[in-house]
Amino acid sequence: MHKQLVNEAILELAIRPNGPILIKAGETGGLDPTHPDMEFVRTLDQVFIPGSSLKGVVRAHCERIVRSLQTGARDGRGACDPLNRRAACGERIERERVAASEQKYGQSCFICRLFGNTVVSSRIRFTDALPVDKVLIEERNGVAIDRIFGSVAVGPFNYEVVTRGTFLTSISFKNFTLSQLAVVGLALRDLGEGRIGLGFAKSRGMGRVTIDWRKLELRYPLAGLKQPQATPVDLWGVGRLAGDAASQAYGFPPNDSAQLPSDLHFEDDGWGTLQAVAEGSEQVQAVFRAALGRWREEMTRG
Ligand SMILES: [Zn+2]
Repeated sequence: MHKQLVNEAILELAIRPNGPILIKAGETGGLDPTHPDMEFVRTLDQVFIPGSSLKGVVRAHCERIVRSLQTGARDGRGACDPLNRRAACGERIERERVAASEQKYGQSCFICRLFGNTVVSSRIRFTDALPVDKVLIEERNGVAIDRIFGSVAVGPFNYEVVTRGTFLTSISFKNFTLSQLAVVGLALRDLGEGRIGLGFAKSRGMGRVTIDWRKLELRYPLAGLKQPQATPVDLWGVGRLAGDAASQAYGFPPNDSAQLPSDLHFEDDGWGTLQAVAEGSEQVQAVFRAALGRWREEMTRG
């Protein structure tokens, strides 16, 4: 299944700080005493938000969402605890010496099927979010308070924060189910509404961002050659596109399809790939909401 690509989605997002954010480059500012103690991570001299930081925050929040709605953590349900070696899907599957890739995927929890574990590769990728306009960087001072004595344990120290700027990133999904798309949409909505934060001191209110859902490209590679326009093309997950045998082997959800928002249509790109492009916040979020309906049905079915 990983060898063929049946569906693909690429989401373009603009992320803007809503207050101070700090994604730390390391624990210290190095040897240069003029640098702040905690610096924002940089590449080629510009600050950026690493894709790995975004993925970490989105994964952790997807775990919370899935756990609050589904118990258990295997066979496409729930979320395992990746830090608990006895319970994590990857370690369990290795212990049980499962060899077939279908079963490794099939026996993983909902979250591992999407984000990957030690035996299943990830179906979602986050690119680094790079600035596209002028970024405002400020320096702040802080102290870390000793939790027991209430005295100053570390510091004072100074740290760098970004308070303004637009960072562009893209998130791509390959061979995804509609439920997987939906849960990532829920997590991104919470990130964009400030319910969760990014980076340093997020539990103390830093790291709040707003999200602009710019564009979502949906693609079914070669689907136009396989089933030439006999059926109306809708929002199709891997369970709908992979065929019955593969769906059964991997445990993809049945009826993995939803109605596309009425103002969106798939078209053949002339090379047999069907594609639809949602543009602007409203249209993009409508696709995620359509996928969410599919997840709701899957959960009520149990
Ligand atoms: Zn898992």
